[in-house]
Amino acid sequence: MERVYLDWNATAPPLPEAVEAVARAMREEWGNASSLHEEGRRASAAAEGARQVLADWTCTRAIEWILTSGGTESIHAAVLGCARARGPRRRLVISAGEHSCSLGVARSLEDEGWEVVRVGLGSDGTWDPEEVLEACDPAKTALASLIWANNETGAISDAGAVAAELRRRRVPLHLDAVQCFGRIPVDLSGLPAAMVSLSAHKFGAPKGIGALFVRQGTPWSRWMQGGNQERSRRGGTVNGPGAAGMAVAATIAGAQDWSEVLRSRGELEIGILAGIPGARIVASGAARLPNTSCVVLPGADSATLLDRLDARGFAVASGSACTTGIAEPSHVLVAMGIPAHEAHATLRISMGPNTKGGDVRRFLPVLVQETAAVRSRSTNPDPTL
Ligand code: PLP
Repeated sequence: MERVYLDWNATAPPLPEAVEAVARAMREEWGNASSLHEEGRRASAAAEGARQVLADWTCTRAIEWILTSGGTESIHAAVLGCARARGPRRRLVISAGEHSCSLGVARSLEDEGWEVVRVGLGSDGTWDPEEVLEACDPAKTALASLIWANNETGAISDAGAVAAELRRRRVPLHLDAVQCFGRIPVDLSGLPAAMVSLSAHKFGAPKGIGALFVRQGTPWSRWMQGGNQERSRRGGTVNGPGAAGMAVAATIAGAQDWSEVLRSRGELEIGILAGIPGARIVASGAARLPNTSCVVLPGADSATLLDRLDARGFAVASGSACTTGIAEPSHVLVAMGIPAHEAHATLRISMGPNTKGGDVRRFLPVLVQETAAVRSRSTNPDPTL
């Protein structure tokens, strides 16, 4: 039986067209993009092509995109690059639902004596725009860095409700949009964020390539040392093959249709609620990414369930893949007020544009069966059941 991959928020399977573009670039555009000869020019053209694709996708300008190694680097570049340029203001505003890399970079600033304000999450998994604006005193705040769509719950916070006002106050706003590209429209002509992070392996390109949008005029200074690549904004030899793969994947991702996935997710959630006593959909009250379903299955240890589903051919996640292996409950679920015993019984099911209704219909009865099996073996059943 063919495996069913339902963990697209961790990473998307590489698109065959992207794999081919990477292989072709490795054969034909392998030069160093900084070199002043034909081989270098060919590599540079691949990188510039990718920048233009991102610009067209988001209604921005190619010059405003810095190519990076992925989401983690883009977020470090946004926060540290802007923080360093905004002295003497030393307040960073984030939310409690950020990805672990944003939490980490915030903590490192805190260690340097910065004030970090962590805006809470509501029970729907979103941060409150009013609370963000309240925390962003322009005299003190260097920048706000906020997750737009959450990787664990799919909850989409209202970035539009803070972007224009923060721009008016001249407080730069960075959006972690790593889960947004290819899933919801990202039109930066209508959304005046100063910086936006992207990671290309989330939409079918290889790992190790990403980008950071830095709107012209944003206070930002280079945060890592190296050569003068990326117009002296980022050191390191440009990943030309990765950029070629990202360009192709972005072109395809920008045209994807999620209507079948949305239908399948609806069917799946109805089936889960009907077939698993006590089950609950996390963040169901918020606008959500079309592909993500985060479910609490009280009394069913999610690590055990994940293993059993894996053995039966289904790949899902419990919380964020980046924190898998750590036995603590997900900080996102805890911030939403979900008790630890429920957080440990939460599964994330995330689909891709080619996930078929049939895959989901095969998955549902197995999930129902395995949840019942895990619950019946549990030595520590949910106290509320
Ligand atoms: N931000 C979010 C919301 C993510 O989901 C991830 C990856 O899971 C990252 C940042 C980090 O991206 P990368 O894996 O490209 O470093």
